[in-house]
Amino acid sequence: MTRTWDAVVVGAGLCGVRVAEELIAAGLSVRLLDAGPRLQLGATCPEPDRRTWGFKADGGSYDWYRVRAVGGRSWLWGGWCYRFDQRALERAGWPRRARRLAAAYRRVERRLGVVEGLVDERYRRVAEEIGSRALPKRGAMSSPSTAWNATSASAAQRAGTWEVALHVETKGHHATCVETLDLRKEKRRQVRARAIVLAASPVETARILLRSDVDAARWGIGRNFTDHMVASVVLLEPVPPPPRDGRGPFPGAALIENFVNVDDASRQPYRGGFSVEVSGPVSLPSLGIERMVPGAEVDQWSATQVHAMGEVFPDPQRYVDLHPELRDAWDRPVPFIHMGWSDADRAMAQDIKQACISIADLMAVPGSRVIPFHDPLLAGAGHEAGTCMMGDHGAGACNGDGRLRALANVWIADASVMPTPGDRHPSLTLLAHATRVGHAVKRWIASR
Ligand SMILES: Cc1cc2nc3c(=O)[nH]c(=O)nc-3n(C[C@H](O)[C@H](O)[C@H](O)COP(=O)(O)OP(=O)(O)OC[C@H]3O[C@@H](n4cnc5c(N)ncnc54)[C@H](O)[C@@H]3O)c2cc1C
Repeated sequence: MTRTWDAVVVGAGLCGVRVAEELIAAGLSVRLLDAGPRLQLGATCPEPDRRTWGFKADGGSYDWYRVRAVGGRSWLWGGWCYRFDQRALERAGWPRRARRLAAAYRRVERRLGVVEGLVDERYRRVAEEIGSRALPKRGAMSSPSTAWNATSASAAQRAGTWEVALHVETKGHHATCVETLDLRKEKRRQVRARAIVLAASPVETARILLRSDVDAARWGIGRNFTDHMVASVVLLEPVPPPPRDGRGPFPGAALIENFVNVDDASRQPYRGGFSVEVSGPVSLPSLGIERMVPGAEVDQWSATQVHAMGEVFPDPQRYVDLHPELRDAWDRPVPFIHMGWSDADRAMAQDIKQACISIADLMAVPGSRVIPFHDPLLAGAGHEAGTCMMGDHGAGACNGDGRLRALANVWIADASVMPTPGDRHPSLTLLAHATRVGHAVKRWIASR
């Protein structure tokens, strides 16, 4: 007899672990599974999966960081944790129900132990000069330099490993099980559950659904793919870095909040806005860039990173489908990411590059150098979103609780549902959404 779980959760990254925690705490039987191994905290991420996972993309040499292991990208993230502004959620088209995030935000912040630093005076001044404000860094950190890793959650300790979800089996408007491949035994398996939660991240969640018996064209599965547009520069200044002491938990880190497309005076010819993270000054060796100045002078210089993140809205040219010929190591069709840029996107790319340079210039002491680091149109941020977008009034692949419209007992807890990746780091909001998915699944199971 095959066991039927209350819920199966696919993907043990931040989102999958968060949903599983909510369901386990309610006394439900939960099968959390992940395609990769469980690594010891402190281990190094397996190198082959740091950069690519058999995804193909056109329109640029995209370099999406991936981790196939319990914990997912929480092995790589920097722990920056900001709430999205209500007006930004509205502007991006979040369904009314999904915008009610305050309680879920509070729950996640407590769970992760989010703390706030102090804003250095120079960032406060620069933000004022460009008509914005500097917010302190808010971070989910296990130690001053290590971000919280989902692997440390007790739900993650129970996750099944080396188990790749292939597709969802369906009967009418319901899913009956997830078909998986056990990589160790090289055996297929059907994991039965009353409720199914997908949290494998947007490209992979889309691949699972595109391989299931779901009318992808009708529900827009794979459509509305987006990612942050990112530009970075490093400001090199001929002054040694200040001591850390007395400057709070994240010395020299702040967010200069979105200052474009927020009012009539700031209107630009693209829809999204962008925020800028600043961090430093730190020593050059701590960023691995000591070769940028003569060896004897390294101690006399410091570096500040200026990093802008732009909110890219969906576009018909950007979507994910399955490659007709290419297959991955397990004979699955490879997801193909179409990344066309519109004139509006190019205008944003130009602006965010210029904003980084202007902010660096405003801070620079005489003799400084500004060095470009990351070109917005050439590399993704690793914050991809969309492919199963939420919408109001029957529009979109999912409703405001992340429940698939095509299958009544399937929810999506990852960034696939997000209409845009937002104008700042997205994971706190993703975790708040995952928490709401947990509540919706509990309600649904209790009502049966
Ligand atoms: C370098 C870097 C720095 C970042 N810094 C920040 C930051 O400071 N703040 C912030 O808010 N965000 C940050 N992010 C983004 C953040 O890491 C992600 O938003 C977040 O980790 C996404 O979590 P997730 O659970 O949705 O997806 P993932 O972490 O990608 O987890 C998906 C999981 O699903 C598993 N999986 C995939 N496919 C299958 C399958 N078919 N079957 C079974 N399992 C599967 C994978 O093994 C993985 O464990 C950063 C990202 C990167 C790359």
